[in-house]
Amino acid sequence: MNSLWVGLLANMAVVALVISLWSNIRLPVFGQKESIRGWAFGSLFGLGAISLMLIPFQLGSGFFIDLRMTMIGTSAFIGGPLAGIVTTIIAAAFRVYLGGAGATIGLVGIAFACAVGLVGWRLKTNDAPSLKASVLFSLVMAIGAMAPGFVYALYQDIDTGPQIRLPYMTLVFVATLMACVALANEIRRRETEARNHMYRHVINSLPEALNVKDREGRFIMANPATATLMQAENADALIGKTDFDFFCQEVAAAFRVDEEKAWKAGTAIVEEQTLARMDGSRSYLSTLKAPFTDIDGNIIGLITHSRDTTDKKLLEAALTQSDRRAAEALSSISDGLVMFDKDLTLVFCNERYRAMFSVTADLRVPGTPAAAILYASIARGELVGIPQEQVAQWVDVALGRLKQGGTVEFPLADGRWIESRTRPTPEGACFVICSDITAAKQHELELQNLNDRLSVLAETDSLTGLLNRRAFDAVMAEELDRVARGEGSLALLMIDVDYFKRFNDTYGHGAGDSCLKTVADCLRAAARRTGDRAARYGGEELALVLPDVDETAALTIAEEFCERLRGLHIPHTGSDKGIVTVSIGVATLEPGSGLTDAVRLIARADEALYTAKRDGRDGVRIWEPSRLRIVHSDNTRS
Ligand code: GH3
Ligand code: MG
Ligand code: MG
Repeated sequence: MNSLWVGLLANMAVVALVISLWSNIRLPVFGQKESIRGWAFGSLFGLGAISLMLIPFQLGSGFFIDLRMTMIGTSAFIGGPLAGIVTTIIAAAFRVYLGGAGATIGLVGIAFACAVGLVGWRLKTNDAPSLKASVLFSLVMAIGAMAPGFVYALYQDIDTGPQIRLPYMTLVFVATLMACVALANEIRRRETEARNHMYRHVINSLPEALNVKDREGRFIMANPATATLMQAENADALIGKTDFDFFCQEVAAAFRVDEEKAWKAGTAIVEEQTLARMDGSRSYLSTLKAPFTDIDGNIIGLITHSRDTTDKKLLEAALTQSDRRAAEALSSISDGLVMFDKDLTLVFCNERYRAMFSVTADLRVPGTPAAAILYASIARGELVGIPQEQVAQWVDVALGRLKQGGTVEFPLADGRWIESRTRPTPEGACFVICSDITAAKQHELELQNLNDRLSVLAETDSLTGLLNRRAFDAVMAEELDRVARGEGSLALLMIDVDYFKRFNDTYGHGAGDSCLKTVADCLRAAARRTGDRAARYGGEELALVLPDVDETAALTIAEEFCERLRGLHIPHTGSDKGIVTVSIGVATLEPGSGLTDAVRLIARADEALYTAKRDGRDGVRIWEPSRLRIVHSDNTRS
C-alpha cells in the first residue's frame, strides 16, 4: 500500500475515531448543561483536527492535504456555534503553532470551514440534519475546501490539475458526508433513546396495568402495576410467563378467551373482567386489548391495559342499594313527595304524590314545569275555589311560595284537604311534602262548628232563644263604647210583661213559659235590622238594643211591638185588658254622649218602664232629663 492510501486511511480513521468516541462517551454532565456539551464536542473535534493536521498525506507532488476541514465544519454544523468555535480555535492555534509558509492560508481554510459549518447549522431545521442537508453541506465543504489549497498551490507553483482537484474534493465530500450521517444517526439514536426512556418512565409510573403478550399469551413486556395486579414479585418476573402461572385455571382460561377474541377481531376491544385470585380476593377490571404490530404492520402481540374498577364497582353496588332503599322508603311513605329544580321544573316525585293528584297525574312527571301543573290542575277542576280572573295571580303566588318555602292548606274538588310544606334548598331547588289532612280538617271543622254552637248556646237564653243576660251585658258594653267614641247613637227598650205573676197563677207555669216564648218571638220580629239585638234581661223582662236608632224611630219600634203583641190576643183574665200586654221603657243616647250617660242608660230605660207600669201598663214611656214623656197608652197621651 502506498503512502497516499496510508495517509488517506489514517485521516479517515481519525474522523471515524472521533465520531466513535463522541458516540460512546456518555458523561452524565453532558446531559445537564448544553454549554458543557458544546465545549466537550468542540474540544474533541479540535483534538481530531490536530490529529489530522499531524498526519497529512500527499495527493500530488508538493500538495499535502488533510481532512481538518471536515472536522471543523462538521463540529459547527452538528455541534452548534460553541462547539464549532472551540474546534476552530484549537485547530487555528495548532496551525499557528505548526507555522510554515502555508500557515496563513491554512488559517483562512480553517475559518472558512467554521463559517460554512455555522451557516449550515443556522439553516438546518433539525438537530439531526436530513440526508439531503448533509449532502448539500458536504458538497459546499468539498468545493470550498479546495479554494485555499488552490491559492496556495498556485502561489507555490504546484500542480493542482483535475487529477489532484477531483480526488481531494471527493475525499472531503465523502469524509464530511460520512461524519454528518454518522453524527445525525447518533443524534437520532439519542433522541429515540430519550423518548424510549420517557415512555418507559410513563409506563412504569402508570397506576394501571399495561403489558404486551405474544401470540401464546406470554408476557413480552409488563409494567410494575401489572406485577402488582398479578401479585408477582416484580415486572421482570412476568416475562415469558402466562396468566396460567399466576391465576387459577378458570380465570386464566377466561382471560385467554378474551385475548383470542382480540386476536380474531384484529382491533382494540374492551372487556369487563372479574379476577378471582387464589387467595380468595376478587377484583374487577376494565380491560382494553389492542393488537401490537411490528414495524411492517404484522400483529405480533397483544397490548393489554387493565384498570382496576373494584372500588368503582363496590361504590356502584352500594349506591344502587342505597338508591333502591331510598326509593322504597319514598314510595312507602304516606306523604306525597315532589322536588322541583331551580327553574321550578319537576325533577322527582313519588307515586303517592301522583296518586294524591290523580286528575293531573299524567303531568306530574319529571320535566314538567310547576306552572304547567298548576294551570292544568285549575283548568281540570282539581284545585277549587280560585276565581277565573285571579288564576294567573294565584299561580304566581304559588310559584313564589315554592321559592320561599312555607306551609299551606288547600281543598281539592273531591273534598279532600291537602297540606303542602315547601322547603327550599340552598341551591335554589325545593322539596314539597304533601299530606292528606282531610280527616284532621274534618275534625277541625267539626270542632269549629261545635265551638260556634257552644258560643251561641252560651249567649242564648234557653227558653226564649233570645240573647241571655250575659250576652246582653256584652252587647251593651260594646254599644256604649261605640257611642262614647262618637260612632252613632243607641236606643234601648226595656220590656216587661204586665201582670205576669197572675198569668202564671191563672194558667200555670208551663203556659207562662210558652207565653214568654211568644212574646220573645214577637220581639224578635221587631228587631228587623242586623245590628238590632233582642235579649232576655231577666224573668219576664226583655230588652231590645237598637244601634243608630234615634228617639222617634225607637218609639215607633216600641209601639209597633206593643201593637203586634196585642194583635196576638193572648188571653189573660188576670189583666184588666183581658189579653197579654207589655209595658216598655225607652232610653236613647246621642252620638258622643258622655260615659256617665252611657252607664246610666239601662237605669233610665228601667225608670221609664217603671213609669209605664205606674201609668197603667200596656204603654211606652221615654226617659227625658227633666221628665218622662208619655208617648202612648190606651187612655192617656201627652
Ligand atoms: P207587673 O205588671 O207589675 O210587672 O206585675 P207582674 O206580676 O208581672 O210582676 P212581678 O215581678 O210581681 O212578677 C213577675 C212574675 O214573672 C213572677 C214569676 O213567677 C214570673 N216569672 C218570671 N220568670 C218566669 C219564667 O221563666 N216562667 C214563668 N212561667 N214565669 C216567670
Ligand atoms: Mg211583669
Ligand atoms: Mg217584672
